[in-house]
Amino acid sequence: MTGKVYIVGAGPGDPELITVKAMRLIQQADVILYDRLISKELLGYASTHTELVYCGKAPGSHAMPQQLINQALVKYAQEGKTVVRLKGGDPFVFGRGAEEALELASWGIPYEIVPGITSAIGAAASAGIPVTHREYAASFACVTGSRCHGEKTPIRWDLLAHSVDTLAIYMGVSELPAIREELLKHGKAASTPVALIERGTTTRQRTIVGTLSDIHTLAVSMKLANPALIIIGEVVRVRERLMLAEQQAVTLIG
Ligand code: SAH
Repeated sequence: MTGKVYIVGAGPGDPELITVKAMRLIQQADVILYDRLISKELLGYASTHTELVYCGKAPGSHAMPQQLINQALVKYAQEGKTVVRLKGGDPFVFGRGAEEALELASWGIPYEIVPGITSAIGAAASAGIPVTHREYAASFACVTGSRCHGEKTPIRWDLLAHSVDTLAIYMGVSELPAIREELLKHGKAASTPVALIERGTTTRQRTIVGTLSDIHTLAVSMKLANPALIIIGEVVRVRERLMLAEQQAVTLIG
C-alpha cells in the first residue's frame, strides 16, 4: 500500500500560526521532512516514533538538494508511510512545493497541499502593516528579490514600480541596493515608505522603517539579517498611525 505525502505550510514563524489541519498531520506523521525556517517547537508535537529529517538549506549552501528531497518523498510514500513535508509559510509561495507535487504526481503517489500563512502576510500583520488599506493600497504583489541579475524571467520592476500599490519582497535582503535602484530608476518616489521585517511573527522580530532613499543604509547600520521581508508602499504609514493612536490611548486612559 502506497502512503500519502502532505505538503504542509507551517506558517510564518510563530508556531501558533499553523493551521489545525497541519497540526493534526504533524501528530499523525510517520516521517516529517522539514525546512530550515519552520519553528522547531512544532516538531515537539510529533509522536516519539516519528522520523524527523532535516532538509534545510542555509543561504549559499544546500543541506539536501531538491532532487534528493523529491526522491526521499517518493521512497517514504512507497514504503506506505504517512509523510509530512513541512515548509515555512505557504508551500506554494516561493516554497518549491509544486516541484515536489509534480514529482509525486508523476509517480502516481497520493499527495495533498495544506496551505499556510505566508510570511509576507504574517510579518506585515505582526508589524502593524496591512498589505491593503482603503486610503493607501488596493493591490499588493509578492515578489522574489533574488532574481535581479540576468535570469531567464527577470522581474518587471518597471511595471511593479507603477502598477502595484504594495510590494512584499521575499529573499531580498542581500539585493536591497539593486531593488532600490531598479525602483528609483523606473520612477518610484524616493519618499515611498519602506519597512524591513526580520524574523517576523517570532519573539525575535525586528522592524526597521525608512524610505526608498535611505532604507539600504538603515539595513546595513541595523545589521539586518535573513529571514526578512521588504514591504514597500504607503501602507507602511499605518504602522506609525497605529503606534501613535495606541500612545494617545494610553495617555488618555492613564
Ligand atoms: N514559502 C515561504 C517563503 C520561502 S522563501 C512563505 O510562504 O513565507 C524564504 C523567504 O521568506 C526569506 O528569504 C524571507 O524573505 C521570507 N521569510 C520567511 N520567514 C520569514 C519571517 N519569519 N520573517 C520575515 N521574512 C520571512
